[in-house]
Amino acid sequence: MEQINIKTNKSINMINYLKRYWKENTSVIFFLVILCGLQVVANMLMMQSFQGIIDRNMHQFMFWMLVLVTVWFLIYGLTGVETFFRCRVIRIMNNTIRQDISEILLKKGYRSFHEQSVGEYLSQFTNDINQIENLAWNSFYDCIRSAVTVAFSIVALLTLHWSLLVASIVTTVIMLSAPKLFHKKMEYLGTVCTQKQSEAVSRLKELLTGYDVLRFFNQDQLFIRDTQQASDQIENPKFRLAYVKGFVGAGMGCVNIICQMFHVALIGILSVRGIILQGALTGGGNLCGNLSAGLSNMTQDVLSMSSAKPYFEKISVHIGETTENYIEPKAEMQIEIMQNGITMNNVSFCYNKKDALKGFSAYFEKGGKYALIGPSGCGKSTLLKLILGCLPEYSGSIRLDNREIRNCRPEQLWHQISYIEQDVFLFNDTILYNITLGKEFTKEQIWTALQDSALENDLLSMPDGLDTIVGENGGNLSGGQKQRVAITRALLHNRSILLVDEGTSALDQENADRIENNLLSKPELTLILVSHHLSEEQKKRFTKVYTLEGAF
Ligand code: ADP
Ligand code: MG
Repeated sequence: MEQINIKTNKSINMINYLKRYWKENTSVIFFLVILCGLQVVANMLMMQSFQGIIDRNMHQFMFWMLVLVTVWFLIYGLTGVETFFRCRVIRIMNNTIRQDISEILLKKGYRSFHEQSVGEYLSQFTNDINQIENLAWNSFYDCIRSAVTVAFSIVALLTLHWSLLVASIVTTVIMLSAPKLFHKKMEYLGTVCTQKQSEAVSRLKELLTGYDVLRFFNQDQLFIRDTQQASDQIENPKFRLAYVKGFVGAGMGCVNIICQMFHVALIGILSVRGIILQGALTGGGNLCGNLSAGLSNMTQDVLSMSSAKPYFEKISVHIGETTENYIEPKAEMQIEIMQNGITMNNVSFCYNKKDALKGFSAYFEKGGKYALIGPSGCGKSTLLKLILGCLPEYSGSIRLDNREIRNCRPEQLWHQISYIEQDVFLFNDTILYNITLGKEFTKEQIWTALQDSALENDLLSMPDGLDTIVGENGGNLSGGQKQRVAITRALLHNRSILLVDEGTSALDQENADRIENNLLSKPELTLILVSHHLSEEQKKRFTKVYTLEGAF
């Protein structure tokens, strides 16, 4: 599949996607053209058959009626085919946008990703795509249909009399200039709609995630009130967008009727004077109607497409962030396996002007076992994220051998570093999936990792063993079991550097000791273990214990 060129293609709009699938789109447009042409032909046939009635010619009337019915059957048959092709290309384009969003998310930096909430991203994959389908794709094809109808109607009217074309041009100018007045307003309403909706989805996600907390503290009312507020946040801007669109549509309808009456009057005069067929009063009226309706629909479709713009801009914003904040061209692609160690020299880091770590220096030698201790909030987790390359905006120097971490691509670092985060995350899948993350490992490798993380006995007591489903974020496991699944995951992936952020805090002493002993006895492993506190006895087992004082 074709990829977005992240570096050069800074603004994404609907044209990009329509162009990417131009072959598929061309076939839809081809069918639309044929359909609209046939509809105009049907109107011309109707004129002929009515002329048969006026001329009291039964044979002519029946013949043209038969041809007319055949053409209508053809129109309905082709409508089915056109729908198939249209829905297919819409499916392809929607999937591509989702794929582009996920690729762009992977290119975001750690901090830039966490600046937005999961709910907002979720809303992009769901709500926003629905809106794009309604406002952009459907309106685009409707607009093409209307434009082709208008073009064919003009040609057909011209075959009747030139003055009808002049009249059509006058009405076209009026109908096309009117909606320009509403462009900005519709675009603004579209932007408000997308912002409010993603905020609401975020809030709903929070409320559902925090469901237990609210119930335990008897805050059912708050749950109801906030879900209703979120619901209002989704519905209100949508309502405003819809009714403003409705009013604009109604206004355009009035203009349309005036134009239509103008056409009918002209056909009437021409027909009474015997310049055109009398039968033109029926089919000709339809042609004028189609022309005006086509113009009016086109203008509404153009308005809809303007209100889809903010949804595409949201995706473009990510690309902007990605190129500016993160992927530095100078970043080194390949990092060799660490030979000596990690050196931190006078490292400071602050989150939004608030110091989290100040002037910290340390040396972690290859194969060494290090403990980091200190009170809560002193910057232990931050320090691990600095080594992981997640926070490249630090001052001072952090080197892996001779390479400065801020100049390395984090993905390259992650090939040699495993990390057990403080708040373990588990997928709502089997234990096996959670430890392998879909990669192939031998049974022996898995078993050794399970033993080293003291999880094998727990598994024996689970009827489904490794196939046990852990529940949403590991809800079916105990806190200690969750931590051990995370430890197994890290050990199985067998990186030479292991960062553990209070990874045994929820474990009983016996299991915690067993795991720590296992980790400490691996000669090749460089271990940096963050702990709230360690006993004097435990401290002795580490190569060195660093104490963080905090940046206060
Ligand atoms: P520790 O792991 O030692 O408990 P952390 O490294 O998690 O401490 O946090 C250090 C300080 O940085 C704390 O004061 C914390 O409030 C702050 N902090 C941590 N993460 C963020 C963040 N994403 N944004 C802003 N401040 C943060
Ligand atoms: Mg922490």
